[in-house]
Amino acid sequence: MDYLPLSKINTVVYCERRFYLEYVLGELHVNHHIVEGHHLHTRAYTERGERSGVWVWSDRLGLVGVVDRIEYADDEPVLVEYKKGQAFPQANDSDAVQLAAQALCLKESRGERARRGAVYYHASRTRREVELTPELLSRAEAAVTHMRQLLRSPRPPGVVVPPSKCAGCSTREACQPELLRQKGGRG
Ligand code: SF4
Repeated sequence: MDYLPLSKINTVVYCERRFYLEYVLGELHVNHHIVEGHHLHTRAYTERGERSGVWVWSDRLGLVGVVDRIEYADDEPVLVEYKKGQAFPQANDSDAVQLAAQALCLKESRGERARRGAVYYHASRTRREVELTPELLSRAEAAVTHMRQLLRSPRPPGVVVPPSKCAGCSTREACQPELLRQKGGRG
């Protein structure tokens, strides 16, 4: 089984078409969002007793990737993911599912069980806590299944996300979402 990058969990939950265009067709266009985001990941802040840039994986799911930072509270790991944007009242849905996928990988590869995570949104200097519930872990597993279904698909899925998600999307030029919406969403 080919291993998929953990970070693509976020992409497929955010927009399945974006995952297909980026990962299957290679239409990843580096814009300032990507450059700034990469910079943040490589500068993950850690204090004594914490770890940053920790590789984790799951042979069962075929996933591999890096956790930005692991804190410890009451001897339990807390996974921290750094994102570039502004925080909403709760962590973004796709960020929360990405944390859950990291938790599954941490458990399998290093035997550590994380029940909590957090996303740090750099633009607003705000942290949002995420409880890694069984439902969220199930959604991470479902996202992996969905990625593998998309990998088998001969053509990209249509546009099903609201226009607000397309602003700033690095794949927008290849996607042409407005054109597809005029045609009812499908290419
Ligand atoms: S432009 Fe919108 S529909 Fe197209 S890949 Fe990006 S988020 Fe998805």
